[in-house]
Amino acid sequence: MKRDSADPVSAHGRPAATADGDRVSGLIADVFHTLVTQPTTLCNLDCAYCYLPDRKRQRLMTADVAAALAGSVAEQDSPYPVEVVWHCGEPLATPIGHMRSLLTAFEPLRRKGAITHGVQTNATLLNDAWCELLTEYGFHVGVSIDGPAACNAARVDWAGRPSHERIMRGVARLRDAGIPFTVICVVTPDTIGRAAELVRYFTDLGCASVGFNLEEQEGANAFRAPISVEQSEAFWRDLWRLRQAGARLPIRDLDRLCDWIGATRAGGVDQRPFDPIPTVSHDGDVVILSPELLGVRSPDYDFVIGNVRRQSIPAMLARAGRMRYVREFGQALRGCADTCEFYDFCQGAQAGNRYFETGSFTVSETAYCRNTRQALARAAIACLTQQAPERR
Ligand code: SF4
Repeated sequence: MKRDSADPVSAHGRPAATADGDRVSGLIADVFHTLVTQPTTLCNLDCAYCYLPDRKRQRLMTADVAAALAGSVAEQDSPYPVEVVWHCGEPLATPIGHMRSLLTAFEPLRRKGAITHGVQTNATLLNDAWCELLTEYGFHVGVSIDGPAACNAARVDWAGRPSHERIMRGVARLRDAGIPFTVICVVTPDTIGRAAELVRYFTDLGCASVGFNLEEQEGANAFRAPISVEQSEAFWRDLWRLRQAGARLPIRDLDRLCDWIGATRAGGVDQRPFDPIPTVSHDGDVVILSPELLGVRSPDYDFVIGNVRRQSIPAMLARAGRMRYVREFGQALRGCADTCEFYDFCQGAQAGNRYFETGSFTVSETAYCRNTRQALARAAIACLTQQAPERR
């Protein structure tokens, strides 16, 4: 399950990026706000759209990798807390005692406010012991649910059995334990026309907010029918209209655009370079720019910028501009900035989508950005002006 980890606020103007050999300055930050970590490669589910290549095997992060990660955060010594997101597999498939041992390395940082923990889970393995751990360590919990049972059909276990009932049991445990949670809902070709039903469902579920990820073709998921721009625009339009009609559900994607408009009108939008989002495998390998690149092998690119057991992440980031995919992504961001009317809001979307759709990082516009950034903004304009949306 994918988080939307590249979550830029926005920027005025155009970045003056330079590639100075080692760094790609200006466009990609050399410090990180988000660190994605893989406590286990295993997932107990086998969702039809999953991009993770190695999710059937249990390989656990070792204590030395966790200690090296904590050391990298300490070395960065940033003035803001780093969110450590446990992800890339089903984190709760990690034996709970082992998870505690990994968390121990981060405790000095957490106690002084230098990190917060987040987890993206399918919730099927939640029990009282996990709820206690999540509370004890102050986790922000994200649950992956695609809607009511009929909308959740793509999410089955390895025996092909549906998972919805087990997810709902996990959600009930969170509620009983008083743990707030957000939701990520993958919208598939089967559910793209059911915006009103999804909004009703998530309103009743009691989540703090929902983010809608329109199904993408990436990683191990490259063979399902794609969602069209027209379908995407109609979906976002339905959501805007539901909100105009009084729907109270906080929706990440709509709120992000509203926040950007509000900040732009107030003249107070910060310019922020693209967060490198270091993503660390169970054995310490680090990729940047897109968690979906973890574990991907390519004849054309090496995605691993180093291993935390041998080098700190700040040291890796200082030299990341030497990597071909990082340089090419920098070029693509410049293309976005120079040519795209949506750039100030979008800030250039995910590197992984560029690669999985085209086999390269140099392309600027992708189906992902057309469906999730451009269609979202066009739908908002159409609703605000009460005009029929302009078709591309
Ligand atoms: S081309 Fe796509 S990714 Fe680039 S700024 Fe425009 S909408 Fe965003």
